[in-house]
Amino acid sequence: MNVHGKYEAVIGLEVHAQLQTLSKLFSGDSAAFGGDPNTHISPIILAHPGTLPKTNKKAVEYAIKMGLACHCEIERYNYFARKNYFYPDLPKGYQVSQHTTPICKGGYVAIRTKAAERKIQLNRIHLEEDAGKSIHDIDENYTCVDFNRAGVPLIEIVTEPDMHSAEEAFQYVTEIRKLVRWIGVCDGNMEEGSLRCDANVSIRLKGETALGTKVEVKNLNSIRNVKKAIEYEIERMIALVEEGGKITQQTRSFDAETDTTFAIRDKEEANDYRYFAEPDLTPFRLTEEFISGIKSSLPALPEELYLKYSALGLSEYDVQQLCDEKSTADFFADTCKYTHNYKAIANWMLGPLRQMAHEKKTSFDTIGLEAKTLADIIALVEEGKVNFSIASTKILPAVIDRPTTFPLQIATELNLLQVSKPDDVEAWINEVLNKMPEKVVEFKKGKKGLIGLFVGEVKRISKGKADPKIATQLLEEKLKN
Ligand code: ADP
Ligand code: MG
Repeated sequence: MNVHGKYEAVIGLEVHAQLQTLSKLFSGDSAAFGGDPNTHISPIILAHPGTLPKTNKKAVEYAIKMGLACHCEIERYNYFARKNYFYPDLPKGYQVSQHTTPICKGGYVAIRTKAAERKIQLNRIHLEEDAGKSIHDIDENYTCVDFNRAGVPLIEIVTEPDMHSAEEAFQYVTEIRKLVRWIGVCDGNMEEGSLRCDANVSIRLKGETALGTKVEVKNLNSIRNVKKAIEYEIERMIALVEEGGKITQQTRSFDAETDTTFAIRDKEEANDYRYFAEPDLTPFRLTEEFISGIKSSLPALPEELYLKYSALGLSEYDVQQLCDEKSTADFFADTCKYTHNYKAIANWMLGPLRQMAHEKKTSFDTIGLEAKTLADIIALVEEGKVNFSIASTKILPAVIDRPTTFPLQIATELNLLQVSKPDDVEAWINEVLNKMPEKVVEFKKGKKGLIGLFVGEVKRISKGKADPKIATQLLEEKLKN
């Protein structure tokens, strides 16, 4: 019997996103990634006595931005709390975080899986500072510490235990990464650790409503690993319970070499962080103006554009691809101002243009093609002046090399304009028909499908310049007997 049908997986994710501010959350040091060890530091970060932190307004703004993008309720009255614990890369002996008053509450992130569209419920988004980094592999006898990252602003986005498959978790993190990049609050780079995910996983019998004992898997530094770790955990837990074993609450780590997880520590009881309100930082109240200012600065979000572009009659695949990155969606929207042939825009962007961007390692916003120029090329094809294949292989690269030249001018200069004058096309047709008299006989005996071959040959010998519509018409007339 397949035991998987008996159980339901329950998953909640905690995603930390490093905010792209210039300076840290409570000090003026650079918040940039990397740098020589311990160069982005100051007495505040090192917790020297007598120093006082100060809140970075931009970080607050970015947290609210993300909250609004996720339909959260924004907390008007905020203060920070000290989360006390000892760790070598935490010089103060506590982390400044938000405890009882996260800046954003509730909300959801819409995702699409093969099975369904879902709104994954959020519990909260709060602001906190990052810790430094302990480096264990430089010295044989010592652990080294780099405090560059200490104090960098983070938001922690916490879901409700609301996902039920590794696939949903995969889509959720994909969507979060897309969103933070879209609104420009985080670069979303999981390899560099700007986006980090911990997965909480439990199982229960189907139909149960109470939550099972969870494990928390740390160290998930790619979206693929989030999926693999959850898949592994679900299998492991089901097998354990089926054997009569009991799941213990643990913190586990993921091993990307073997796609498995292993226990780091058992959590017998909740940690006591002895939270209390941070006395060195003043609480802050958010005004309605500040919040509405942020709201009006938000770009149209992928969710909204998804609906808008779907209504243009584009396929689900096209819409999904167009809404994958902001630069893509923006370029599409710009091109729509100059042509209403939406399908052609999508085909151009997701076909030849994307391929070129790929080859040149750029994106739509930096490839050097104006939206208006793409619309001009689309019009040339629509009007039958050039065919698609010539337009994409000859005109597009030429226009990108010479951005100030009109596509029509290039087509003319390179002698690429399609010929639709019947006399010219007829000359090519005669050449083709003379070359293949047996096929002409077969056609006349009833093998009408050969028309495609003739048109293809005409296109070939005219190097794509013969207008296929005119060629087909003329051929049909000529072969009528
Ligand atoms: P902790 O105190 O261990 O950090 P929280 O209650 O703060 O636990 O929840 C952390 C994350 O774990 C949240 O995303 C939450 O949705 C998820 N979570 C909590 N309980 C479970 C459970 N039984 N199964 C799966 N996920 C859970
Ligand atoms: Mg946790």
